[in-house]
Amino acid sequence: MRYVSLIPIPLRIAALTRERNSLFDYPVERLAGVIKDVGFRCISCAKCCTRAFNGHVFLLDCDVTAVQALDPAALEPAPAPEFCDQNGIFYVSGYALRTQDDDAGSCWFLKNSRCRIYDRRFTICRIYPYMLHREPDEYGKIDWRQFSGLDRHGEYDAVISDDESLDLARETKEYENAFLTQEIQFLELMQEYFRRHRLRHVQKVYDDRLRRFNQGDEITVMVYYQGLLKKHHIRK
Ligand code: SF4
Repeated sequence: MRYVSLIPIPLRIAALTRERNSLFDYPVERLAGVIKDVGFRCISCAKCCTRAFNGHVFLLDCDVTAVQALDPAALEPAPAPEFCDQNGIFYVSGYALRTQDDDAGSCWFLKNSRCRIYDRRFTICRIYPYMLHREPDEYGKIDWRQFSGLDRHGEYDAVISDDESLDLARETKEYENAFLTQEIQFLELMQEYFRRHRLRHVQKVYDDRLRRFNQGDEITVMVYYQGLLKKHHIRK
């Protein structure tokens, strides 16, 4: 989830906190029922492990620690930073998995359409394609979305037991809670960091720097990780 940079930070924190409260109230049995009804079965098409299909794979802090132990080169700052200050420094709420330099943008850990680290794959990889987000539909009505990419990958004939669907539903809720908590903590840190260092987000600087980045310039990105900001110099 990314919020438009122009919305003031306190409003963003309030919106995310409301979202998290709604998540707490969502019955896990209801999500388990959706999982059983959908009957999704992975057919190892590997589509969901590519940038072409899924944009990027955002990592929770706990997963970043796991990637660092496996292969630190697999980490990169998540795209679309939330802020850019008046000095041209970007800020983003976490890391993403790096992709390979092939046409599809395959995940760093994908080889011959198989995950090289399947038994140790990350939280989002374990729960995908399930999710629990409140998002607008095509008519702008905000409602829960529990599945990503329906009918665009996998097959839908699986019989999923009550226990398995409940386990998946619980893990999905835990992931969404951890994700929202990380976003809120990042915004709280940014609020304090900007105030302490007399910084502010400037959209024009953001747009200019991003354009130059796309033309090959190096940029500096501060990435939120375990309550701190870690500095990276990156090039497209
Ligand atoms: S870590 Fe494995 S399961 Fe996760 S996106 Fe990469 S290849 Fe796919």
